[in-house]
Amino acid sequence: MAKRFTLRVCKITGEINLTIPLKSSQGSAEDFIEKNAHWISHQLKQVIPRDYVSFGKSIPIEGIERVIVPKEKSFTGNILQKKHLYLESDELNLGLVTKRFLLGRASTILTPIFQEQAEHIKERIKSIKFKDTKSRWGSCSSEGSLMINWRLIMAPPSVYRYVVVHEVSHLRHMNHGTKFWELVKKLHPRYLNDRSWLKRNGRSLKKFVFDVSKGDAA
Ligand SMILES: [Zn+2]
Repeated sequence: MAKRFTLRVCKITGEINLTIPLKSSQGSAEDFIEKNAHWISHQLKQVIPRDYVSFGKSIPIEGIERVIVPKEKSFTGNILQKKHLYLESDELNLGLVTKRFLLGRASTILTPIFQEQAEHIKERIKSIKFKDTKSRWGSCSSEGSLMINWRLIMAPPSVYRYVVVHEVSHLRHMNHGTKFWELVKKLHPRYLNDRSWLKRNGRSLKKFVFDVSKGDAA
């Protein structure tokens, strides 16, 4: 039996759950919600609106909106085209097929940029992990293991290039000091623009749900 009031807001669905002690009066529950109204609205502001992928919908890839279209077996062209992304899937599995495509694309495009930038500053990368992290776009361990969010492949090229440069620069400087930012600027002069793009639009890359069973907005 619950001994005290608890409130929970799901950051993915925006669902609010209230647990109340059995003996409490309804009035005290209302008071409790009233008291926490500010907290609730703050939590709800952080909920990422979900967007499920389906045929006919568009998603940005390398900063360009592409409509997802069913791919026929006989189709031999490039599946990623200027305005379209051709995928062989049924509606039910489309989310996972799209996610697999984006992950593959991220690794194909981003890995050489990582290598090229690391070679350029004569640092060594131990490994690169492509993940779907909640908060950070990338990370770098002191052993040289790098992580990047594959959703960045949806952002404009200059933006994902900035994140790569940022993590590679940590191979030299494990902090965000002046020397670190000087190196970032040297490798990617327009980093300030791209950093603010991420602050303004980063959330829009996280709204797409690919894996419904996992509540994949995170
Ligand atoms: Zn950093």
